[in-house]
Amino acid sequence: MSETIAIVGAGQAAGQAAQSLRQRGFTGHIVMVGDETFVPYQRPPLSKKFLAGEMELERLFVKPAHFYSDHDIQLLLATRVAAIQTDTRSLQLDNGKTLAYDKLLLATGSRVRKLSIPGSDLAGIHYLRNISDVQAIQQKFRAGARLVIVGAGYIGLEVAAVAVTHGIDVTVLETETRAMNRVVAPEVSAFFQTLHREAGVKIQFGRMVKAFGGTGSVTQVICADGSVVPADLCIVGIGIIPNTELADAAGVTCDNGIVVDEFAATNVPGICAAGDCTRHPNKLMGVSLRLESVHNALEQAKTAAATLCGEKLPYAQVPWFWSDQYDVKLQIVGINTGYDELVIRGSPADRSFAAFYLKNRQLLAIDAINSAREFMLGKKLIPAKVRFNPAELADPSIDFKSLATEALRISES
Ligand code: FAD
Repeated sequence: MSETIAIVGAGQAAGQAAQSLRQRGFTGHIVMVGDETFVPYQRPPLSKKFLAGEMELERLFVKPAHFYSDHDIQLLLATRVAAIQTDTRSLQLDNGKTLAYDKLLLATGSRVRKLSIPGSDLAGIHYLRNISDVQAIQQKFRAGARLVIVGAGYIGLEVAAVAVTHGIDVTVLETETRAMNRVVAPEVSAFFQTLHREAGVKIQFGRMVKAFGGTGSVTQVICADGSVVPADLCIVGIGIIPNTELADAAGVTCDNGIVVDEFAATNVPGICAAGDCTRHPNKLMGVSLRLESVHNALEQAKTAAATLCGEKLPYAQVPWFWSDQYDVKLQIVGINTGYDELVIRGSPADRSFAAFYLKNRQLLAIDAINSAREFMLGKKLIPAKVRFNPAELADPSIDFKSLATEALRISES
């Protein structure tokens, strides 16, 4: 009898894994169970071109629906896996049915962190994770509307850029003292804050939202310092939580993510996990990580597919991520934790520069702002653990490619 590989979740990691299983020659049964109504789709455009109305729904799908039937991949959409029985190797579905598997991939992703404060159940308060979230927001996305965004992270700032461009009156409220403070240096935050303020977005820091006011629908946002901001619409972007409960209940080890090894395998034989839901070791970076990025979802899914086919494809990638705000593309490569020196190369005023994070002169990470070359080279430089002379790195008269080539030569010698 042919083997069955079940995939829980139908997001980017799941879609990639199913595709990779077939590419690797797996001829058994593949069944993907997803609680949304759509075939696997890309989320990044949800806070960018799709929200702006510049992208058709169909273009979000990573593959057209017929791809799955063409490759004999069974989709059970609008269906939630309620429990995993590892002793009988079966999944309990929320429609009462049971699904047997031989091997399992958990690609359950993450969900938005919600605010639980007075007024949080008022109409007009939105989160942004799914296509349906965007469709609900778009109904109120009208010029002149007053939008309050809670959180100055990537999602909040991307939405702010789209909204202000549509003539919406945008206020961003952030508890911390600067934008994207979890991921970028103060100098990079300052650049983005200026970018948004020049576009007309009101960004306020040190504002802890403590309640939403209104009757039926939200009309104001109340902060802990007593300030009140009028609102017709609110979008909350305060981070995500990995979906680990299903795995945890089945005895799969979880620790701020489903814990997997470099082959995407969990502690339970026959069960792998990939994407936003995992915590995994990254030997290149020498750390254990939980990442929220498309690159991670796709690459880890390829590794998981190899493992499920009985092959070995260690997951060892330099993490990278991007964000689009107005005409600015931010590309981040590497992990900047523990940096002791920041070198800026290029000119923030020209909207094109790169921030290099060094530790004892070793390159840890780069934030490339409209600087694709620095980003691309960074993918090679970071795993090679190259070192730079900060003064040379900051000097725009020295060609970056030459600096990079020399740094790589020294690291290899
Ligand atoms: P998901 O895409 O979350 O898919 C998991 C799926 O599993 C979901 O559909 C979920 O509902 C389903 N599921 C969970 N539990 C069950 C269950 N028990 N039964 C059935 N189904 C279940 N990344 C970037 O690199 N660059 C960007 O610019 C960027 N922009 C983003 C913008 C937005 C608005 C969002 C929301 C994310 C963005 N990301 C970006 C992050 C990126 O989209 C995620 O890292 C990626 O989608 C993770 O893929 P995944 O398959 O692990 O999880």
